[in-house]
Amino acid sequence: MKVVADLDKCQGHGLCRMSAPDVYDVTVDEGQVIVKFDGEIPAELEDAAALGVDSCPEIALTIED
Ligand code: SF4
Repeated sequence: MKVVADLDKCQGHGLCRMSAPDVYDVTVDEGQVIVKFDGEIPAELEDAAALGVDSCPEIALTIED
């Protein structure tokens, strides 16, 4: 499982990070999401990653299998 962020949609309010701080961060400078894993999300963090995707009101995060 991978998560791809669309930075054109991301508004930087950080709901994803609040839902899953082990998976997502938000840059202070640019106010945009950082997915902490470029490639595969570790299996133990997949549920948290999905929670973060669901929490994003801008639909900026997408799961790719
Ligand atoms: S919740 Fe969505 S819009 Fe907000 S910082 Fe996270 S990815 Fe960006």
